[in-house]
Amino acid sequence: MTAPVVIIGTGLAGYNLAREFRKLDGDTPLVLISADDGRSYSKPMLSTSFAKGKEADALCMAEPGAMAEQLKAEIRTHTRVSGIDPGHRRLWIGQEAVPYRDLVLAWGAQTVPVPVEGDGAASIFAINDLEEYARFRAAAAGKQRVLILGAGLIGCEFANDLSLGGYQCEVVAPCEQLMPTLLPPAAASAVQIGLQALGVRFHLGPVLTRLDRAGGALRAHLSDASVIDCDLVVSAVGLRPRTDLAAAAGLQVNRAVVVDRQLRTSHANIFALGDCAEVEGINLLYVMPLMACARALAQTLAGTPTSVTYGPMPVTVKTPACPLVVAPVPLGQTGHWQLEGQGADLKMLCYSAEGQLLGYALTGDAVKEKLTLNRQLPALMA
Ligand SMILES: Cc1cc2nc3c(=O)[nH]c(=O)nc-3n(C[C@H](O)[C@H](O)[C@H](O)COP(=O)(O)OP(=O)(O)OC[C@H]3O[C@@H](n4cnc5c(N)ncnc54)[C@H](O)[C@@H]3O)c2cc1C
Repeated sequence: MTAPVVIIGTGLAGYNLAREFRKLDGDTPLVLISADDGRSYSKPMLSTSFAKGKEADALCMAEPGAMAEQLKAEIRTHTRVSGIDPGHRRLWIGQEAVPYRDLVLAWGAQTVPVPVEGDGAASIFAINDLEEYARFRAAAAGKQRVLILGAGLIGCEFANDLSLGGYQCEVVAPCEQLMPTLLPPAAASAVQIGLQALGVRFHLGPVLTRLDRAGGALRAHLSDASVIDCDLVVSAVGLRPRTDLAAAAGLQVNRAVVVDRQLRTSHANIFALGDCAEVEGINLLYVMPLMACARALAQTLAGTPTSVTYGPMPVTVKTPACPLVVAPVPLGQTGHWQLEGQGADLKMLCYSAEGQLLGYALTGDAVKEKLTLNRQLPALMA
């Protein structure tokens, strides 16, 4: 019997690849293995669903059984891959060996742990998958005050969404502005003002050093000696691509699992895409790039080696308190910023010395200009 194509992970990367592959090849055995419950859902909804009052079940688009039928695949849920043996084309689930024809790593990124003292430290939530969302929602029922760690894209989205969902949010982050790696200061300030108008309070500069239980609530101690009483703490300090099993198997890893334009790792029959993959030095933790990778990799797995291309990759940040679209300046490129507009409606454009538009940040009404500007942006990976 032919060994199957095996995909590790049933997030957007794993399921989209499986769908694209099945459009081209209906016969090759296909196995998906997931450490989680294998439900199909759209992860970006996790930071917009408190405002809509949606339970985790309402975000589930398909149960694993339905996905298995749709994809003509075997789906193993709550099953953690523990090792890879590239030399023998097999992976390990504990003591069980699973052979593969080709293996695809779509195992995502994990939350960076927060080093905090105190007996409340274990109750910090991360919301990086549907099961964690369900746990947080259950814990948040009847509570009011949420402390969010991190003022990056995800922290800001949660602050907006939880505020609209009726929670009082405070944000703690050791930076001078919101989304420091993504936004020029004027855009960050427009978003901050929008979120403050919703009632969000920011503590920019200090970090959380200690979290203690205090009655039925929590008491957070910050490095600037201030104290915040809250009911729940959500960590949005960042995600780190999973690389441990790949490194242990001898695959080349850097920030993420290193792959070429065909999404091939340093081992011929092992591929990677999604949050865990670094494609020619670029590791993007967004949906649009993983969709491009899924289409290209499906072709390769179906017998037509295909390189992925990335067009411009603008990101819509889900902060309706101050609409925001940003096209980050590609890594390694520098330019000068031009600012137009005022108040919440800002258009910031970054140009190279040759006059090429490299990136932009649009807030408020200026987001309407994104389609026109996207046509002027260079492809990220042509
Ligand atoms: C709150 C939030 C909001 C977001 N909003 C946006 C947005 O608006 N726009 C956008 O473009 N992007 C957004 N993103 C990012 C986007 O959702 C991710 O880039 C994308 O979902 C990653 O998909 P993935 O399949 O690579 O990883 P994941 O969805 O993390 O899937 C990883 C899978 O691998 C499995 N797994 C891990 N380790 C193992 C193992 N050892 N064995 C077996 N299985 C394993 C997991 O169980 C899971 O099934 C958001 C992210 C978050 C957290």
